[in-house]
Amino acid sequence: MDKRSVAVLGFGRSGQAVLEFLLRREPGTPLLLFNDDAIAAGDERRAGFERRGVRFLTGSERFAELAGCGRVIMSPGFDGRAPRFAALRASGAEVISEIEFAFRQVRARAIAVTGSNGKSTTVSLVQHLLAHAGVPSRLAGNIGVPLIAEVEAVADGSWVVLELSSFQLEEIVRFRPEVAALLNITPDHLDRYPSLEAYAAAKRNIFRNQGPGDWMVLNADDPRLADAGRLGRGRPLWFSSSGPLGPGRAGAWLEAGGVALDLGRGRERVSLEGNPLRGLHNLENIMAAALACRAAGLDAGAIAAGLPSFRGLAHRMESAGRVGGVEFINDSKATNVDAALKSIAGIAGGLVVILGGKDKGGDFRALLEPLRQRAQRVLLLGKAAPVIAAQLQGLGERLAFVRDLAEAVSSGYAELRAAGGTVLLAPACASFDMFANFEQRGEVFKEEVRRLRQREGEHG
Ligand code: ADP
Repeated sequence: MDKRSVAVLGFGRSGQAVLEFLLRREPGTPLLLFNDDAIAAGDERRAGFERRGVRFLTGSERFAELAGCGRVIMSPGFDGRAPRFAALRASGAEVISEIEFAFRQVRARAIAVTGSNGKSTTVSLVQHLLAHAGVPSRLAGNIGVPLIAEVEAVADGSWVVLELSSFQLEEIVRFRPEVAALLNITPDHLDRYPSLEAYAAAKRNIFRNQGPGDWMVLNADDPRLADAGRLGRGRPLWFSSSGPLGPGRAGAWLEAGGVALDLGRGRERVSLEGNPLRGLHNLENIMAAALACRAAGLDAGAIAAGLPSFRGLAHRMESAGRVGGVEFINDSKATNVDAALKSIAGIAGGLVVILGGKDKGGDFRALLEPLRQRAQRVLLLGKAAPVIAAQLQGLGERLAFVRDLAEAVSSGYAELRAAGGTVLLAPACASFDMFANFEQRGEVFKEEVRRLRQREGEHG
């Protein structure tokens, strides 16, 4: 392969956006697109790129043909630690992630957020608070638009707010956010990582290139983040939902009706009056967002003023409606055990929980005790249902299998209609066994609640 060639790995949103960028900005560079799965020759998007000179290599067996090309830009779905990448690097190719590539093209200031849970909520809130205070920024990364699709829209010196998954943080070389937040590290994606440590290491990459003038926003309650000095060289800002910070620590904690902030220059307060978000985990997200915005120059008053107008995101502790005394909550985005635990902890009163979907190698036993204390019934769905049932055996009669979300909604309702309560969809699993994605799972759930409401003769 020609040294001038650039290979783009993956034909999803990120890969296509990288190709678009390269075609526009580096005309004449030989471009290749590699994808493990076949892409039909008749695929319109493929044909469009082929017309503009992009060569397609599809099928994993053709990966070796990439040897010798100059640059390889990979989409987050690829695992850069797989043996086939060692061979590719040995052939002289520079392998980088889309985020690294995109970041090299901008002179923006970045606020980057990673963690097992809470990323989307936190970055959306950061962007909302900045916008409310009149500070322009662009939202990109895992939340939807790849950074590379935004780089031409970002003015020099303005902010980009980035949601980054551990996958996107692999193959980082120079990426350096001015403000970087690591919200939490709990078991997730263990189907892809050899160990929790390997997963944590990818997340810690967010701090790798920071200097002493940059900021690290860290969860003080997470034992895996206790040693800031080991994480990076930036200035640590801690947040804690379990009380004031230890001596000498700057950051945020909860106090009656508000968040206390101390960045080392005296105490400030962000009132939580009008806070639109439910649950303790969202208070953590609010503290992280407040610290990130404070580090980016907003004052505490501007942060408090922006909070009430934030609209929480769909499929995260979203109300799916109420039928009689039963409220339905859609937390379809709770795709791992820790997220489901937080959701359960955030609800008071009668509770039915819907769990199950595609197992990601998680350990469901952590749910046993909270469910024993809180849930009167646990409905199991999807491929992981038997695995979960085996691990939650201790719940005995309270466990029940359901075929689909329609049955889950009606049996949850039947359970609670007399005394009232909440039916919570917090699956602790991915959705890919029965649905295209967590959004579709959440939509189906909401639709089933609408149907139930119609059957029950209530509208509104
Ligand atoms: P992510 O983008 O990291 O998946 P989201 O903001 O979309 O995070 O939230 C995903 C789910 O994780 C939510 O539905 C909720 O159940 C749970 N969650 C949100 N924030 C936190 C947090 N700070 N700690 C633990 N769980 C959280």
